[in-house]
Amino acid sequence: MANVFLKKGRAAPVVRRHPWVFSGAIHHIDGDPADGDAVDVLDAGGNWLARGTFNRSSQIRVRLLTWDKDEVMEARFWRDRLEQAVTARRALGLGAGSSATPETTAYRLVNAESDYLPGLIVDRYGDWLLVQFLTLGVDCRRSVIVESLVELLEADGIRGIYERSDVDVRQKEGLEQRTGALWGDEPPDLLEIRENGLRFLVDLRAGHKTGFYLDQRDNRARFSAHCEDAEVLDGFAFTGGFAAYAAAGGASSVTLVDSSAPSLELARRNIALNAGVPAARLRDATLIGEERHFEYLEADVFEALRRFRSQGRSFDVIVLDPPKFAHTRRDVDKAARAYKDINLLAQQLVRPGGLIFTFSCSGRVSADLFQKIVFGAVEDSERKAQIIGWMSQGPDHPVALTFPEGAYLKGLICRVW
Ligand code: SAH
Repeated sequence: MANVFLKKGRAAPVVRRHPWVFSGAIHHIDGDPADGDAVDVLDAGGNWLARGTFNRSSQIRVRLLTWDKDEVMEARFWRDRLEQAVTARRALGLGAGSSATPETTAYRLVNAESDYLPGLIVDRYGDWLLVQFLTLGVDCRRSVIVESLVELLEADGIRGIYERSDVDVRQKEGLEQRTGALWGDEPPDLLEIRENGLRFLVDLRAGHKTGFYLDQRDNRARFSAHCEDAEVLDGFAFTGGFAAYAAAGGASSVTLVDSSAPSLELARRNIALNAGVPAARLRDATLIGEERHFEYLEADVFEALRRFRSQGRSFDVIVLDPPKFAHTRRDVDKAARAYKDINLLAQQLVRPGGLIFTFSCSGRVSADLFQKIVFGAVEDSERKAQIIGWMSQGPDHPVALTFPEGAYLKGLICRVW
């Protein structure tokens, strides 16, 4: 195995178990590792520190996998890591097989670095697994990973494993985009999942990310509890995740805004799918899903909110769940202006005493910065606002303490006066 020697003074992050070794931290390499090979990482004095996978094409030259010298990266290693992730989900009450009818059938099984498997995402959608190989280290071990997943989950009702490695980050690893069935049956065109008892159709093959924003599950439930008799605005509605929860929570109307017509079409179907579902959080057994309560607006949110403002429209509860505005450090200022813009508009559209659920999924925008941006919007709107809740990604999207970059989703619940 090749030895990667770090420069003097560059060992601290590795010792503290951060999983990335950047090219600039490397002094020299003893041996000639191929991209994807396992390598050992040593400090400038030659002390063994950690082991990981090598990739010359990436700025992150080594992705660290173990700090235990006795742990070798054979099949057993991958199986054990995957089993740990699966066990952790079962401990959350997620993971019953298809024979059971759990309230929630879609969740994240493996959250990459934060499950000590850099670059590997595995989501469970009913009887299918959806896998993303984001780095070469896991891409070239795809067969052992797939075999282990089958071994761990076939008895749990898994019928197929589908790959959605169609993401830009693979380029930075020298990898082409890839999609397709890896094992078992192809998923249906639209797969029905349940989340907290609500039903959703998911486009596993072509939907955003891995098809559904699973990281928002707990936030949607929290949001739903505030929607009784409310006129709700769902900005960046996608396939109606928040909108369906608003309906289940007893909203009197829901306005969905998204720039994607196909997403809104699926949102319409998702709302209809839940017609007849008793609104769980309502004291009476009101049924959700009557068409007249829903308005679907194919529009740019920035423009739609401005139009609402000039029309004098207002709402009781507003959710803003935009896509990632900041992709790199250079985008942060521009992203901050965009977050401020929509939050200012929302502040102006919400009725006194109403609520805004506002999110950022940009890892580059810290929770602290996001709160400052929202504060700036409140200041400009001349409203008064209180934070009544802080939100983040759900527990099936853990953040390893050694990998703070994993905490990307942040949200605030503001009551506005
Ligand atoms: N809240 C959703 C997820 C939102 S994903 C859920 O819980 O499922 C972000 C969505 O924003 C996508 O559907 C995308 O089509 C939409 N979008 C991106 N930019 C937009 C813009 N400027 N105006 C309106 N919609 C936009």
